[in-house]
Amino acid sequence: MTPPQPGRRALVTGSLQGIGLAIATALAAEQCHLVLHGLGDAEQQENARQTVLAAGALSVTVHGHDLSDATQVQALMAAVLADGPLDILVNNAGIQQTVPLAEVPLELWQRFLAVNLSAAFLTMQAALPRMAARGYGRVVNIASVHGLVASPHKAPYVASKFGLVGVSKVAALEYARAGSREQGGVTVNCICPGWTETTLLEPQILDRAAQVGGDREAGVRSLLAEKQPSQRMSLPAEIAQLAAWLCHPVAHNITGAAIPVEGGWTSQ
Ligand code: NAD
Repeated sequence: MTPPQPGRRALVTGSLQGIGLAIATALAAEQCHLVLHGLGDAEQQENARQTVLAAGALSVTVHGHDLSDATQVQALMAAVLADGPLDILVNNAGIQQTVPLAEVPLELWQRFLAVNLSAAFLTMQAALPRMAARGYGRVVNIASVHGLVASPHKAPYVASKFGLVGVSKVAALEYARAGSREQGGVTVNCICPGWTETTLLEPQILDRAAQVGGDREAGVRSLLAEKQPSQRMSLPAEIAQLAAWLCHPVAHNITGAAIPVEGGWTSQ
């Protein structure tokens, strides 16, 4: 793919592994400056840095702020914006856990809302006015199929992801008129993945494998059979290609969308 606009500067939260690292790698291949972020040790940070440099990133910085703490989110954005303007913001960091609603501790509920929802609100609050002033900006929020439909035992996750889809639509409306076609405009969209091959899913896969009395692959097959009609997991790199495409100037009129990548899950 031809680099649409080399030199864009992108922050991808939760990008030391999984979907976030894949998105950072896809943006690196388009010759962006990358700001990586995530909870991880020095070795994981260095591996992620080398991955995006090898993919073509023009420069790489790494931050480790804990997004469950609002003051840390604000500190992250202050540090990122002090280093220069931000063209692309990908809110990808997220947590997942399955618990019956009646047993969800208040602290867990609050942690989900802080990491999966409030952090994205705060990063957008810092980034969007500056993007609007420059006439180009892209916010890609990694929600979930659980931002569109519910499943049992996921109350905090579903609430946070529905909230993320909602606040993204509000942001899209508020910034719809910023910039021009030539500049690229400012857009805010969500990607809503179904089952995607990352470590986030491992506890659910292993739980299901135990329930069906099989190995890991039997657990994967059972989860897919229940919800994802394609019967195929997505790969992080596939989600990443869509995120990178949304950042192209040609996507200037796609805003406020919540795009499912879930093998037909929400069509049932
Ligand atoms: P992952 O666990 O591999 O990565 C999550 C990232 O978020 C990590 O880099 C981690 O350091 C970061 N993170 C978590 N808590 C944090 C905190 N308090 N402060 C800072 N960073 C924090 O998971 P993934 O599967 O790559 O998930 C990425 C996003 O995709 C999440 O928002 C998730 O909800 C969403 N998603 C994943 C799937 C899937 O099937 N894997 C499906 C739908 C949506």
